Amino acid sequence: MKFGSEERKLENKIFTYSQYLKTKFGKKVFRVGLSLGKICPHRLKNNGCVFCNPETFTGEYQSQNLSIKAQLENAIPRIKRACGDVALLAYFQDETSTAGSLDFLKVKFKQALSHPEIIGLVISTRPDFVNLEILELLKSFQVPLTIEIGLQSIHDKSLKLLNRGHTFEQAEKTIQQCGENGLDVGVHLIMGIPGESFADMKKTVQWISANKFIKQVKFHNLVVYKNTKLAEMNLPILTIDEYIEALANLLPHLRKDIVVTRLFTSNVRKNQLAVDNITGNKTKWMAKLRDYLYENELEQGKDFR
Ligand code: SF4
Repeated sequence: MKFGSEERKLENKIFTYSQYLKTKFGKKVFRVGLSLGKICPHRLKNNGCVFCNPETFTGEYQSQNLSIKAQLENAIPRIKRACGDVALLAYFQDETSTAGSLDFLKVKFKQALSHPEIIGLVISTRPDFVNLEILELLKSFQVPLTIEIGLQSIHDKSLKLLNRGHTFEQAEKTIQQCGENGLDVGVHLIMGIPGESFADMKKTVQWISANKFIKQVKFHNLVVYKNTKLAEMNLPILTIDEYIEALANLLPHLRKDIVVTRLFTSNVRKNQLAVDNITGNKTKWMAKLRDYLYENELEQGKDFR
């Protein structure tokens, strides 16, 4: 089938985050990345995940030394200049954003919500750092709230290889607990974990599609950063083109109503890479993915039953 460039929109093939935000809030919404100011306990105690390099996820207006108020005051004017009059969600995205005492978390999240421009929260964390007290706290804010859980894969052999420090069973229980407490649940996935076949990745995507609590998914290509255990392991890593092909063929197995919050690992800087399996930039990858989907007549949810 031939398509004109106008019809070749990724949004016709994938339920994107911007589509979701426009539908949910009726206007353009942007996330402000914030740092809780705590180092991930898994990295402190267990050497962390093999792919983790904290230098790569500290955004330019985040700092472990800045208060939440200061981080917002730095970030918001830039966002408004670039994006105009948008509504804002506070996105606690780096490290493990539910690490710390309940009182500490309450203060940090409340500081974000007390800013007049912030209309909700997005909190990213590990499956083993969520409990009922934290969920009660989050519910008590009564604002739009998504909790993102680092799942990565449903295969324990992969979680072990990545030194995730949790099992699939733990992640499954946490996702259920979050969902039963009324939170929107997003999951982070890595596609192309060494040792996983396409069939393994498909099982992960199919499991997500069958889980009624999961509302959002973030796909990541595996990036090998300098100064990581992964860099020493010398494992075969997908090139960006192989990743795009795998992702395009996985999307048909993803339930249509699940929001695809991310398609590629973001903000990758070339000088931080130990294995340069990445050519081009995000705009080019998106265009390649879009073209692959159109040329092969693939779309999200097409093969989900
Ligand atoms: S859980 Fe996240 S922050 Fe902690 S070590 Fe793993 S990737 Fe790094």
